[in-house]
Amino acid sequence: PADLYAPHRRNSAGLDFSDRAAMADLAVEMGCAFGRGGPRKAGPIIGGSLRTRTGEAVRSPRDTAAEVGRVTWAGEQEVEESLAAAHAAWPAWEGTRAETRARLLEKVADLYEQHRAELMALCVDEAGRTLRDAHAEVREAVDFCRYYAWQARRQLDRPVVLPGPTGEHNELTLHGRGVFACISPWNFPLAIFTGQVAAALVAGNAVVAKPAEQASLTATRAVALMHQAGIPRQVLHCLPGSGDLLGPALVRDRRVAGVVFTGSVETARRIHQDLAGREGPIVPLIAETGGINAMIVDSTALHEQVVADIVRSAFLSAGQRCSALRLLCVQEDVAEPLLHILQGAMDTLVVGDPRWLATDVGPVIDAEALEGLRSHHTRMQGMGRVIHRAPVSGDCEQGLYMPPTLYRLERPEELDREVFGPMLHVVRWRSGELEDLVDRINALGYGLTLGLHSRIAGAAQQVRRRARVGNLYINRDMVGAVVGTQPFGGEGLSGTGFKAGGPHYLLRFVSERVATFNT
Ligand code: GLU
Repeated sequence: PADLYAPHRRNSAGLDFSDRAAMADLAVEMGCAFGRGGPRKAGPIIGGSLRTRTGEAVRSPRDTAAEVGRVTWAGEQEVEESLAAAHAAWPAWEGTRAETRARLLEKVADLYEQHRAELMALCVDEAGRTLRDAHAEVREAVDFCRYYAWQARRQLDRPVVLPGPTGEHNELTLHGRGVFACISPWNFPLAIFTGQVAAALVAGNAVVAKPAEQASLTATRAVALMHQAGIPRQVLHCLPGSGDLLGPALVRDRRVAGVVFTGSVETARRIHQDLAGREGPIVPLIAETGGINAMIVDSTALHEQVVADIVRSAFLSAGQRCSALRLLCVQEDVAEPLLHILQGAMDTLVVGDPRWLATDVGPVIDAEALEGLRSHHTRMQGMGRVIHRAPVSGDCEQGLYMPPTLYRLERPEELDREVFGPMLHVVRWRSGELEDLVDRINALGYGLTLGLHSRIAGAAQQVRRRARVGNLYINRDMVGAVVGTQPFGGEGLSGTGFKAGGPHYLLRFVSERVATFNT
C-alpha cells in the first residue's frame, strides 16, 4: 500500500544551530548536564534495577584525564539472569497489540526530546561526539522510535487475507520471535542502540541489549528512559560489558531467538559461527558492518560542491561512521585543482574539543583506535603516500585526536581494509574507465555507500546499474542517512539487510504464520 512510504510523516525537528537564543538555552542545559548531579553511573539493568558497585572510571576521549562517570560491568551471572527474565516475560509482551507497543515507543521518543540536552552531553562526554553530531543523534534516535512505531501499526496488527479455494480462509500474521540480543556500536551510542532496541521491542520481542563498552553511560540512561516511558522492566534488560565475554554467552544461549548487530565484519562472522554451532532453534542475524566506501568524481563535477561533500563525508564524526568516505576516485584531468582546493578546505576544519560549537572534528573513540590509525599513518608515510594533514587545535594534548589526512594510492585495491578514522585515500582514473572502476570497487567485497559526482547525462544510471551498494548518493555527500528517507544498510561484507529506518526492517524481527480455516 502507498502509505508504506509515509509521505505525511515528519522527522524530529531538532534545534536551529543558527538561533542564538536556542543555543544559549542549550548551553545552559548542557552545562548543567555536564557538571551537575555527581558522577554518572552505568551498569547492568535487570528487571529495571540498575546494579552498580564502585565500578571503573569512564574517561572521556576529549581528555583522558577527565572522569565522566563510572561503570560496573556485567558478567555471565547477569547474562543468565537477564535471559531468564526476558524469556519469562516475552509471551505476555508478544500477546500485546502492536498498537500498544507503538504507543510506548512514541513515549520514549517524547522523553528523549525532553532530555535532549542531557543525552547530547552524554554522547559528547562519553563518545567524543561533536555537538552537531550529538544533536543529530538524538533526532535520529527519536526518528527511529516514531518510524518503527508507525510501521508496526501498519504492518503487524493487520492480518493479510490470502486467496484460496471456496470454503477456505487463509490468514497470514506476524509475531515476535522471542528474546532478541541487540549488540550495538560506540559510533552512534544513542541512535543505533535505540534503533535496534526499538525495532526488536515493537515487533513483539523481549530484549537483552549489549551496548559497546565505550557507550555504557549513554545506553544505561537510554534504557532508564525507556522504562520510564512504560516499556515493561522485565522485557528490556541492558548489559554493559566486554563483547568478548558477553557476546558469546548471549548468542550461544538457545533462549536467544534473534541477533541484531552493528560493528565489525570479524565480529559478525563470529556471531554467525556461534549461532551455527549452538543447540536450539535456527535464528536470524541482522548485521550491519563496515565499508570501503568510494566517491567517484568525474571531470564535469563542480569543484567547490565536491570539496564540501568530500570533507563532510570523510572527516566529520572523525570519520567514525560506517558510511564515511574512504576512497576518493578522481578523474585524472581534474585531480590537481580539485586536490588543491580540498587541502585548503581541510585546513579550515576545527579539530578539537567536541564541547565547542565551532568544532568540526572531535576525538577518536579510544587509545586503541588512535594507535591503529597512527600505525596506518606511519605505514603510509613510510611509503611516501601522505599528501596533506590538517592541523589540530592547541590545548588538545590530553585528548585522542587524529588530524584529518589525505593519502595517495596507486590502485583502489591497495585499500584492503576499513580504516575507521579521518583518513582519506585518493586514486586517479582516466576517461573511459568508469565501468571498470565501478567493477573494481565492487570487487573490494563491501557494499555500503558510494558517492558519484558527475553532470554527464546517463552517468548516474550507468553507475547505479553496476554498483553493488546499499546507499548510492549522487551529487551530494554520502553520510547522514535520514530515517524513512534513506533507509540505511549494505550488502556483501557490509551487512545482511534489511535496512535500518526502512519499510522492511521490522520484517526481519518477526516470524510469519499462516492459518488455514476450512469453513
Ligand atoms: N547511518 C549513518 C550514516 O548514514 C551511519 C551509521 C553507521 O555508522 O553505522 O551516516
